[in-house]
Amino acid sequence: MIVHWHRRDLRATDNRALSAAASTDTVVPAFVFDPDVLTHASAPRVAFMLDALAELRAWYRERDSDLVTAVGDPATELPRIADERGATAVVFNSDYSGLARERDERVRRALAEAGIETESFEDALVYDPGSITTQAGDHYSVFSYFWDKWRDREPPSIYSTPDRERLADVSGDPFPTRDELGFEAPEADVPEAGMSAARNRLADFCDGPIYRYADRRDAPAANATSGLSPHLKWGTIGIRKVRESVENAKADVPDAEAGDSCETFESQLAWRDFYAHVLAANPGTVTAPFRSYERPIDWRDDPDGLDAWKNGVTGYPIVDAGMRQLRTEALVHNRVRMIVASFLTKDLLIDWREGYAWFREKLVDHETANDVGGWQWAAGTGADAQPYFRIFNPMTQVQRFDPDAEYVRTHVPELRDAPTDAILEWDELDSDDRAAVAPSYPAPIVDHAQRREEAIELFEAARGDE
Ligand SMILES: Cc1cc2nc3c(=O)[nH]c(=O)nc-3n(C[C@H](O)[C@H](O)[C@H](O)COP(=O)(O)OP(=O)(O)OC[C@H]3O[C@@H](n4cnc5c(N)ncnc54)[C@H](O)[C@@H]3O)c2cc1C
Repeated sequence: MIVHWHRRDLRATDNRALSAAASTDTVVPAFVFDPDVLTHASAPRVAFMLDALAELRAWYRERDSDLVTAVGDPATELPRIADERGATAVVFNSDYSGLARERDERVRRALAEAGIETESFEDALVYDPGSITTQAGDHYSVFSYFWDKWRDREPPSIYSTPDRERLADVSGDPFPTRDELGFEAPEADVPEAGMSAARNRLADFCDGPIYRYADRRDAPAANATSGLSPHLKWGTIGIRKVRESVENAKADVPDAEAGDSCETFESQLAWRDFYAHVLAANPGTVTAPFRSYERPIDWRDDPDGLDAWKNGVTGYPIVDAGMRQLRTEALVHNRVRMIVASFLTKDLLIDWREGYAWFREKLVDHETANDVGGWQWAAGTGADAQPYFRIFNPMTQVQRFDPDAEYVRTHVPELRDAPTDAILEWDELDSDDRAAVAPSYPAPIVDHAQRREEAIELFEAARGDE
């Protein structure tokens, strides 16, 4: 008997550790609600996780097995579960953050002391950390070189789903409720969780939108991206299954442009691998900059600015729309994540770690590697980051990517009845015009052109250029 410890792999298909265990022995599927991990969780993610767990449990029950659960420290709970079920080994899929790796080491030691073997597998990425390296054997810090190697590789095959006779005849306790875990109902409408929701999303996306992804992915109103990020975060779909569906879509392309579009989508999966490889090699970058300047950046302490940003009342329509989408949907469109992150760090001159902490609390798809990677990219401190002098103008961004102000109107009700021109030139209107078209929407809290200059000075001072 082998215990499979589910963590961020809430699925039974294309699951490397589960598949390996089932190919050698009978498997006891287990999940541990770890209070330590839950201190880093938040309401939207816990809601998504509980729904995903419910579907996973139903999958096992349909096969006369169950998901055995416990609440507590996995270093105590897993040896107990293994002992009670007569298991000789525990298997799990690796995670890449420093905290997760420390916990896994502790669990490994506790199991060894109890005489139980452990084995971990690389499952979450298309290509494992350490498998795509420079000639010197280091991880890449420039994406384009990483991507050249990534795209030339043979796609990995899907792992087999365990046969029902390989699943132990066990029964699990009821899950703790959200309240018992100490979380309130999420403020946001959390997307549908679980393996079938993930499969349907992937199938719908690969059936059409993928062919226009390159053109439309930057338009936040177009709803043209896959929406797979919470599923990839929680592992309700296997990454190899995603890659296989993209390969199938590529084999069926209507024209060359559609083929390029599939590749553009693949490059986003490669960014996900890239950031995980960078984090695995540099676990300290969750709190420290990946790339240091001569001196620390002298970020501003501006609690009012931070509050306005969090509440979506900066007077920059696309920034406010994004920050409100975060609260209502627990997600933000990628282009808008870049805009709001640039606004916090380059217009408000506030430390990216403040933004990261807010995203971590509010995002249903918060994934350490991608979130840190995205924030450090915007702040100009990350691997292959935006250069410090290239600063998004939030008004040009809205004019270019939301030219009908459709996304802004969806998320900012105060601007719903305002004419498009007024929204796209909100920073140029005088107070009478603003009061006439949208009296309850604020004027810009900072002057972008002035803050742009100040941001460049801030970074040049950190570079030692003064
Ligand atoms: C400041 C900031 C914070 C971010 N925080 C997160 C986060 O916590 N979790 C997260 O999954 N993504 C994060 N991203 C990346 C990106 O915004 C989301 O992955 C994307 O918006 C999710 O929507 P989708 O699934 O429809 O993406 P699609 O465009 O359909 O892309 C498919 C998948 O590729 C991966 N991907 C796409 N873009 C990126 C990227 N730039 N970097 C890394 N992986 C990418 C994701 O897994 C995504 O689900 C962040 C970006 C920024 C700028």
